[in-house]
Amino acid sequence: MSDPLVAVKDLEVYFPVRSSGVVSRHVNDVKAVDGVTFEINRGETLGLVGESGCGKTTTGLALLRLLQPTGGTVRFDGLDVIDLDRADLRALRKRMAMIFQDPYASLDPRMSIGKIVAEPLEIHSLVRSRADKHRRVGDLLEMVGLSPDYRNRYPHEFSGGQRQRVGIARALATEPDFIVCDEPIAALDVSIQAAVMNLLEDLQRDLGLTYLFIAHDLSAVQHFSDRIAVMYLGRIVEVADRVPLYEEPKHPYTDALLSAVPVPDPVVERSRTRTILEGDVPSPLDPPSGCNFHPRCPRAFEPCSVADPALAAAPEHDVACHLYD
Ligand code: SF4
Repeated sequence: MSDPLVAVKDLEVYFPVRSSGVVSRHVNDVKAVDGVTFEINRGETLGLVGESGCGKTTTGLALLRLLQPTGGTVRFDGLDVIDLDRADLRALRKRMAMIFQDPYASLDPRMSIGKIVAEPLEIHSLVRSRADKHRRVGDLLEMVGLSPDYRNRYPHEFSGGQRQRVGIARALATEPDFIVCDEPIAALDVSIQAAVMNLLEDLQRDLGLTYLFIAHDLSAVQHFSDRIAVMYLGRIVEVADRVPLYEEPKHPYTDALLSAVPVPDPVVERSRTRTILEGDVPSPLDPPSGCNFHPRCPRAFEPCSVADPALAAAPEHDVACHLYD
């Protein structure tokens, strides 16, 4: 197999907490991402799943260096993303893009659709003339299922699904290899979610794209991801190919997330037992000792509150849990 397109090792994004007062001192860190390691192969989709606030979006932003990591490495096609100087980072950014969660907030309401889609083309000097830009914007709108005639309209004239298509066209403008899709359907009506997912899938097949697909529940990535990484409180707790993860989840947190995914068959659905997690996700400012999931874990036992389980590699199924020591 060829080298992975994206290789993340021990990634950390800490936000310093400073004391108030005249002399402000660094007193603690919010460990939003705390030692995350994974790889994404060319042309595949890695689903990154976890509850709100677990560090998924921060991980995505750090991969693209839209946030500066505080530790670890990110390699993109062999290049060290974190150490690149401005000029090299700018060149690399052409190859990486992000689709944002909220199509209402991520498009500038004062800009026409044509200007929004043309912006990356201009930033990266990818068009030679007005005619070239006109043609390219029209092509991009068509690629996402929108009429090129919409180019002079404004975001408020579109539905949520159409706005997300504009966001996708903008992400495709520089012909990237890799796209971070940050919950791209979470803010959309259920009736149009499938159409946007199908579009992303078609684009991946036609353009050979590689995706990191961020979602807060396992149902959103079930049919779309080749592999899935489950994140809890800034860490990856389980990574596996799609089938073993859904059929034989190992980590109790993955098990709980899966038990919340509805099954289409009503008979099977009625017979299932749900794992209800008690309590909220703890603060990353003061994470629990040992396994940071232990205060909520239905299977916690003696070592869990003391020893921190490492993500242990197993063939196609890595897990961080003392049940598998
Ligand atoms: Fe639960 Fe212990 Fe495994 Fe953590 S290490 S997930 S607390 S069983």
